[in-house]
Amino acid sequence: MINSIQDTTVLSNGVRMPWLGFGTFNINEGEEVEKAVNIALETGYRSIDTAAAYANEKGVGKAIRESGIAREDIFLTTKVWNSDQGYKKTLSAFEESIKKLSTDYVDLYLIHWPVESLYKETWKALEKIYKEGRAKAVGVSNFLAHHLEDLIKECEICPMVDQVEFHPFLVQAKLLQFCKDHNIQLEAWSPLMRGEALRYLQIVKISRKYKKSSAQTILRWGLQHQVVTIPKSVHRDRIKQNAQIFDFELSEEDMSLLDSLDAGKRIGPDPDNFDS
Ligand code: NDP
Repeated sequence: MINSIQDTTVLSNGVRMPWLGFGTFNINEGEEVEKAVNIALETGYRSIDTAAAYANEKGVGKAIRESGIAREDIFLTTKVWNSDQGYKKTLSAFEESIKKLSTDYVDLYLIHWPVESLYKETWKALEKIYKEGRAKAVGVSNFLAHHLEDLIKECEICPMVDQVEFHPFLVQAKLLQFCKDHNIQLEAWSPLMRGEALRYLQIVKISRKYKKSSAQTILRWGLQHQVVTIPKSVHRDRIKQNAQIFDFELSEEDMSLLDSLDAGKRIGPDPDNFDS
């Protein structure tokens, strides 16, 4: 049972990762991201998700530095973008990210998308960064089971995390099972389907029973599936609301009802067919 914002999952290498994190996609560099991360940290979030592609790493780093919270108490994730994939380019991209984030290491470094011809070379760079202790954990994002299978058969270090689109309309049961079988922690991006899922009648009805909002219900559903979740908001009340998901538990029946909404519906690109 996950019942506190401080609760963590233990990755395959023993590193602890908070179940709840704060997403920063579409938050502008500078004041906007600094303020949002600041509110998240004040609220008790200890995991922040960014990416080179979000162009807000400087602000994320500044907010963390100025929070007064010890660096080792924060779990920081960033990602290598598609145009920086390949061994050498990834090593340079990592240096660039670290500099912008003004930190010596990240807690998790991810390959943002599975660029077919390059992800194995990119992974070798992540293995080097990991061995040097500059990323406490390494993983992938938007990898489907077949990408993971392909990578695992050749890699020296197995990915510890796969961050993918995951919400009640896109459950990806096969991928979830694959990750469980291989000790890879699944992490949900767009857990609220960017807000689209919130007005759905079935979700509203279930939420009323628990006196929770649709957002809280969906986030709790993800946690009960043992999936790490990273909702994004720029609003203080929503950032707080999204963290109040540790004081209730969805029944098995309501979990199944939410599971039954699965329609394989994506809000983002299909990893097998994206514009790299
Ligand atoms: P989310 O599913 O987290 O939804 C964010 C949207 O929902 C925003 O428009 C926000 O609005 C709104 N919202 C948030 N909380 C509430 C609430 N309680 N009630 C009503 N509306 C709410 O989408 P994201 O795409 O941002 O995904 C989360 C994170 O996942 C990203 O920020 C990023 O870190 C990561 N990500 C990773 C990807 C990858 O390829 N690896 C791809 C996409 C995202 P407002 O801000 O106005 O409050």
